Amino acid sequence: MLVTIVDALAGKPGIGEEVTVQGWVRTRRDSKAGLSFINVHDGSCFNPIQAVVDNTIENYSSEVIKLTAGCAVKITGKLVESQGKGQSFEIQATTVEVLGWVEDPDTYPMQPKRHSMEFLRDNAHLRPRTNISGAVARVRNTIAQAVHRFFHENGFNWIHTPIITASDAEGAGEMFRVSTLDQMNLPKDDKGNIDYSKDFFGSESFLTVSGQLNVEAYCMAMSKVYTFGPTFRAENSNTSRHLAEFWMVEPEIAFADLNDNADLAEDMMRYVFEAVLNEREDDMEFFQQRVDSECINRLRNVIDNKFERMDYTDVIDILKKSDKKFEYPVEWGIDLQSEHERFIAEEHVGRPTVVMNYPKDIKAFYMRLNDDEKTVAAMDVLAPGIGEIIGGAQREERLDVLDKRIAEMGLPAEHYWWYRDLRRYGTVPHAGFGLGFDRCVSYVTGVANIRDVIPFPRVPNNVKF
Ligand code: ATP
Ligand code: MG
Ligand code: MG
Ligand code: MG
Repeated sequence: MLVTIVDALAGKPGIGEEVTVQGWVRTRRDSKAGLSFINVHDGSCFNPIQAVVDNTIENYSSEVIKLTAGCAVKITGKLVESQGKGQSFEIQATTVEVLGWVEDPDTYPMQPKRHSMEFLRDNAHLRPRTNISGAVARVRNTIAQAVHRFFHENGFNWIHTPIITASDAEGAGEMFRVSTLDQMNLPKDDKGNIDYSKDFFGSESFLTVSGQLNVEAYCMAMSKVYTFGPTFRAENSNTSRHLAEFWMVEPEIAFADLNDNADLAEDMMRYVFEAVLNEREDDMEFFQQRVDSECINRLRNVIDNKFERMDYTDVIDILKKSDKKFEYPVEWGIDLQSEHERFIAEEHVGRPTVVMNYPKDIKAFYMRLNDDEKTVAAMDVLAPGIGEIIGGAQREERLDVLDKRIAEMGLPAEHYWWYRDLRRYGTVPHAGFGLGFDRCVSYVTGVANIRDVIPFPRVPNNVKF
């Protein structure tokens, strides 16, 4: 019976049964007694399964003892309890079929040893074969599935917002333009400006920087919605927290204010972290031992404790009063820098912290103006070790206030004609946020660089794969 390795290691379909597994060799060890021990992984769980092969097997000397890391094999044999430490079941092989050899084993990049993260990044096509990248891929999948399950169980509809968007002018400097190859030589007017009316869509178009504006339209009809997909920003900053292509989870809820929004963010994170601890015990234990000894405690801490909630103004006071020397001077009105965010979440609070009510001048036009007329109902969730992991807000639902903000910020009002319609026809208070999915994977696993938690990272000067 063909089984996955996770099932075989759990003793399915039963002791003494004949099973077949397919996968890739991680290691081979030969004993003097004419036995070979082959560890095989297939991605279904953290641990490989051990197959014990004895030299009476027909292709033992011609093939089995030539197996090296990376070879693909199909092994059939009896599932038996293992004598070896740390593993429950193993296979007493009766046949070993080699499905794919590794050419020139000496130069195979993924030798079974510890590689640097830089080396793995340069071999992004092969790194899923390593313990660490395999574990990241499984945990990433579990988080994504749990996100969908959470929203499904709470009555949200998943809305597929577009990847190609019209300009929302907001993220101007960070947008990737979309154009067809044969439209690269678009005509220019006398002033040298490109005539985009001749472009594919008849006007400028860009890769999405956020699905929010579009998802708000669905929120104003379906009450509880979310979008979850890739997002693009031409981030020039070479940091361990930014990618040019990253994934974002963006829920939007109607008849809701900023506190409802913060509650939703907390509930979602708690749900997802519980799923990870329940479903990916093996991978999380690996991360705890090899990457970050605190990673499991950190998730438990989130599950067991409410997030701290603070006003931006109070955060500024705390930062000013602290003895810590910050590189970027602290003053009411600044956008919090990573060093400030991390100080608050890591040192001052010690767990995720929701900071609310930021100065309006540093936040987007669509965030709801507070009664003080100086701040908006924005919130960021700051996580220890990461800084900002979520950015969100109650949206401005009053057309007159929205128009004033658009004008104040010098944005082109005509771009927002449909967004303004949402305020003209049955407007209600609503709120939403964006969770940086990759930052969340980083937070969960303790893998510090965001380039190591996404399969093929897109960063400046690198689109090799
Ligand atoms: P930052 O201040 O870290 O640049 P931001 O305020 O520009 O983030 P938002 O526009 O609020 O980001 O987007 C929502 C979330 O998406 C952020 O809280 C973050 O988790 C994530 N995010 C933003 N930009 C990136 C990026 N370039 N790569 C990965 N994740 C990102
Ligand atoms: Mg940014
Ligand atoms: Mg920010
Ligand atoms: Mg933000």
